[in-house]
Amino acid sequence: MLDAMDRDMDDEPRVKRNIHEKVFVNRSVTLENIKCYGFDMDYTLAIYKSPEYESLGFEQMRDRMVSIGYPHEILRYTYDPSFPTRGLVIDTAHGNLLKVDSNGNILVCSHGFHFLKGEDIHNYYPNKFIQRDDTDRFYILNTLFNLSETYLYTCLVDFFTRCNRYTNLPKGFRHGDLFMSYRSMFHDVRNAMDFIHDTGALKEQTIKNLEKYVIKDPKIPLLLTRIKEVAKVFLATNSDYNYTEAIMKYLLEGHPTPGSPKKSWRSFFDLVVVDTRKPLFFAEGTVLRQVDTDTGKLRIGTYTGGLQHGTVYSGGSSDIVCELLLVKGKDILYIGDHIFGDILKSKKRQGWKTFLVVPELSRELEVWEQRRNLFEEMKRLDGFLAEFYKHLGNDSQECPDIRAIKTRIKVLTYRMDMSYGQMGSLLRSGSRQTLFASQLMRYADLYSSTCINLLHYPFNYLFVAPPVLMPHESASDFAAQDLPNHSVMMNTY
Ligand code: IMP
Ligand code: MG
Repeated sequence: MLDAMDRDMDDEPRVKRNIHEKVFVNRSVTLENIKCYGFDMDYTLAIYKSPEYESLGFEQMRDRMVSIGYPHEILRYTYDPSFPTRGLVIDTAHGNLLKVDSNGNILVCSHGFHFLKGEDIHNYYPNKFIQRDDTDRFYILNTLFNLSETYLYTCLVDFFTRCNRYTNLPKGFRHGDLFMSYRSMFHDVRNAMDFIHDTGALKEQTIKNLEKYVIKDPKIPLLLTRIKEVAKVFLATNSDYNYTEAIMKYLLEGHPTPGSPKKSWRSFFDLVVVDTRKPLFFAEGTVLRQVDTDTGKLRIGTYTGGLQHGTVYSGGSSDIVCELLLVKGKDILYIGDHIFGDILKSKKRQGWKTFLVVPELSRELEVWEQRRNLFEEMKRLDGFLAEFYKHLGNDSQECPDIRAIKTRIKVLTYRMDMSYGQMGSLLRSGSRQTLFASQLMRYADLYSSTCINLLHYPFNYLFVAPPVLMPHESASDFAAQDLPNHSVMMNTY
């Protein structure tokens, strides 16, 4: 049987996918069983141009801060894409920006643009650890929209720390009889962020300059057309109708096939839901209403009918989507960019299959390929450390001198982090993985730099997760001899 399999595999023409076109697998997904594909819009189907879009958000927020009374000097700051990384945490008590692992251990810490070293970090956090469940104090900057917010908060901390009109105190700044805490500054930045989104200021500028801010890829309509031939397709976005209409028209209606009638963007979907209020959408949701597509206004009353093609809905919940489309949660593959609002919630609360879009992955892969040698050296040094201790028994008094190795590991970690940007990689710091990486592995069944990469696989594809051994399993002789080959084979999927 195995011989026959080997023969068959050798006879088949092999497809070798470029690493940038790959979909990566945390948990196996049989694409043939997926009856319905759900898409998020912002940063999933609509990929914003970086750093132009983040700069726009930054400038609008910065200007808003000045208009509510912040000093005019902050207008001198402009967005620097090399600084922020997604997934950082703001400590609103001390104004620090932190990069942490899945348990809250601190990997990198900055105060404004000043990076703190060992002793200084210990002064703030004696265990080099934060209780990240304390969501009142620690705020996780999970989305790509948050990049401009991350940078603005850093600029403000930098400005007030260095400006000699203000006195630095442990929890904020004093100016005469005024005290401004790091916490109130955080709330002001947060409100500025809500302001530019909720008033439509950011959306207005985006729509006026779609070519400047949104990537228009002809493969998006192709992907949706192909999927619709084999499964149901829906769009579930937190954006409002008017914005969704402008973006989707731009993405889907601009590439008419010669000779065929113009297709409305809505016809690419079986169901369109706007104003979804994810993550609430994956729990109790909100009232489902119909959108009047002529005026963009909502029809009064809760919609209680069946699915009407071409109709756009507002609000609702993931349960209502299943009812309208006559599908079960396990038959849905939901594709989104928000690790919490799209992926964690749809997986944890509804058991949907999940696909995380990580636009940063292209650059992460590029740096990883270029700097792999640093990681390999780090691994070798870990091996040396293990060698030092390997033969020491319980009664040993020997105390190996490992200072040089530890210093070298620190240097390598720093050099590797700097290759990604000032705050390092989205996914790791040296050999340690970030909170974002651990959530990605836990909640996203599949992930890739773009949803377009689904076009490189047939719709009956079996995405197989590479087997991951636990430390006790990889230490056993059997695994050491046999499994590496097996892993290599599985990894070629
Ligand atoms: P989605 O990714 O298609 O679900 O849409 C995300 C929506 O959330 C967009 O309309 C954004 O303008 C909006 N948004 C993102 N971050 C914030 C925020 O911090 N405050 C308010 N709205 C936000
Ligand atoms: Mg999104």
